[in-house]
Amino acid sequence: MKTKSQELFKKAKRYIPGGVNSPVRAGKAVGIDPPFIARAQGCTLWDADGNPYIDYVSSWGPMILGHAHPDVINALTNAIQRGTSYGAPTELEVEMAELIVTMVPSIDRVRMVNSGTEATMSAIRLARGITGRNKIIKFDGCYHGHGDSLLVEAGSGVATFGIPGSPGVPEDLARQTISLPFNNLAAVEETFQRFGDDIAALIVEPVPGNMGVVVPQPNFLRGLRDLTRSYRSILIFDEVITGFRLSRGGAQEYFNITPDLTCLGKIIGGGLPVGAFGGKRDLMARLAPDGDVYQAGTLSGNPLAMAAGLATLRILNQPDVYSTLEQRSNMFFSGLKSAAQEAGIPVMINRVESMGSLFFCDSPVTDFAGAKKSDAGMFKRYYTSMLEQGVYLAPSPFEATFLSLAHTEEVIGKTLDFAAKAFRSHL
Ligand SMILES: *Cc1c(COP(=O)(O)O)cnc(C)c1O
Repeated sequence: MKTKSQELFKKAKRYIPGGVNSPVRAGKAVGIDPPFIARAQGCTLWDADGNPYIDYVSSWGPMILGHAHPDVINALTNAIQRGTSYGAPTELEVEMAELIVTMVPSIDRVRMVNSGTEATMSAIRLARGITGRNKIIKFDGCYHGHGDSLLVEAGSGVATFGIPGSPGVPEDLARQTISLPFNNLAAVEETFQRFGDDIAALIVEPVPGNMGVVVPQPNFLRGLRDLTRSYRSILIFDEVITGFRLSRGGAQEYFNITPDLTCLGKIIGGGLPVGAFGGKRDLMARLAPDGDVYQAGTLSGNPLAMAAGLATLRILNQPDVYSTLEQRSNMFFSGLKSAAQEAGIPVMINRVESMGSLFFCDSPVTDFAGAKKSDAGMFKRYYTSMLEQGVYLAPSPFEATFLSLAHTEEVIGKTLDFAAKAFRSHL
């Protein structure tokens, strides 16, 4: 029974464009009406009709502890008694900044914002301000939020709906963004040779999660570090997904590469709207009020968001968290692979730690072009079968599957049985 969800979607479309506040949620790519979610606990979501789902979207990444974790709920309950926003400095912000600086290797000053989009927009502005240059390099299929400069050949919903660039982004601005194939160091080198003097920054998801998950080839990230250094460009790691997901210190710690600036979001807010960007002291000193590059936010450092984020990061800072996640993720993704193989269905699994993707294709997916070659019809049938069996996946092949600490071996085993059934009977 999905009556309530269907009624809500119908009503939503009367008041909200497409019925949703973020495009991929509408489920258009997989041809479904989305379940409307009423509550969540651990790795389970319940829709408005009371149907439970095992959740592998994790709110698109943030819920690495699972939903409604008692520490996060306690922190929020305590914080809310003291008011919801002051627009003034607080102790919580200082604790948050201190914890980020201790956890993330390249950050020694950090500014909080309200979303990943704000983090990348601000980092790009800062990079342009510091270098006095205009152009930026990004990669096809990487998504860095919906800021004007970054909506060129972007991933996530932009990829799902096949939009190469968005109307509303001035051509003059789009022309300053150069988008290159991921994992192609030669293309980056060539671009630096041609435009090196005017490239302010190179921004990259160190492990892209928005064209589905793609794994950086050995030395790709190292190559980006070397090239940006020799052309005096700013290397920005967009760790909005990978931050606190791959390891305590994110992808930069995991791969041992030090970017100049880092963007954070998702996990850092513990489920509340938060982002952050940070880096070396001298770079961050160019920001107002000490410096001349302007950036601000009425609700930035909001006490509720800080409380939820801090509670989350404190748990992630404890021993064994990431080894547990890795072990469960290995069980999940290798189980998926065997189930598909047993059913004779060609799939490629890309995974780093607790983020991964299943592509219906038979050659390795190393960039956006490869991801786009996967079988969309097959994905749609797989998606629909899983949803019917009570498994909530991201409704697009260009998104990641995220595991959380709440996904027990038992739940994973159950999910793998459903997947085997989907592979056998529905595809
Ligand atoms: C989600 C995401 C963003 C944008 O974050 P929002 O909070 O949705 O604005 C930016 N970069 C990456 C890598 C993301 O996955």
